[in-house]
Amino acid sequence: MPTPLDPRKKPTSVKIHVSNGTGVDITWADGHASHYEFAYLREECPCATCNDERGKKESFKTLAPGFASSPVLPMFKPKPRAHAATQVGNYAIQISFTDGHSTGIYSYDYLRSICPCAECAKAFRAATAR
Ligand SMILES: [Zn+2]
Ligand SMILES: [Zn+2]
Repeated sequence: MPTPLDPRKKPTSVKIHVSNGTGVDITWADGHASHYEFAYLREECPCATCNDERGKKESFKTLAPGFASSPVLPMFKPKPRAHAATQVGNYAIQISFTDGHSTGIYSYDYLRSICPCAECAKAFRAATAR
């Protein structure tokens, strides 16, 4: 995988705070700093399984009308945290979550595009209607 040339997607500093659970801090070559909570990263997990699940949730009611009448699933669930994280080459990080999930590999390209700040939402997510 080629290293992206876009300085906005090139990290100059990556800090993964596994032990205190505060999340991931990345500073990018364009000077921007991003902070990601582990729970947020878990939700945005890019692996095929999670992509599938996100798709299923959206079509759940139409595919299983019998379930639509059952009570709404409780919204509370323990916030997933990370129990381990490793850098994959120089292009991504892999995070093992406390819910046992560890197949998500977050490329820096992807991480920059899911930066939770308003500026990046505008720069990277406005064009893609979701
Ligand atoms: Zn996943
Ligand atoms: Zn940002």
